[in-house]
Amino acid sequence: MPAHEEPLNPGDQALAGTPGSGENLCPDCHGSGMCNDAPCTTCGGTGKVIEGIGGG
Ligand SMILES: [Zn+2]
Repeated sequence: MPAHEEPLNPGDQALAGTPGSGENLCPDCHGSGMCNDAPCTTCGGTGKVIEGIGGG
């Protein structure tokens, strides 16, 4: 695993800005950024995850 890349949230599938990827609402917190009164760990509290588009 490359060490120079920015850490991804667990729900991210690609770095932000990666061609062929895009933001989606976090499937765990549904965009709220909170899960069970705590910051969502899937999206890191952002409410969004980066997912690949069009297969991959
Ligand atoms: Zn989330």
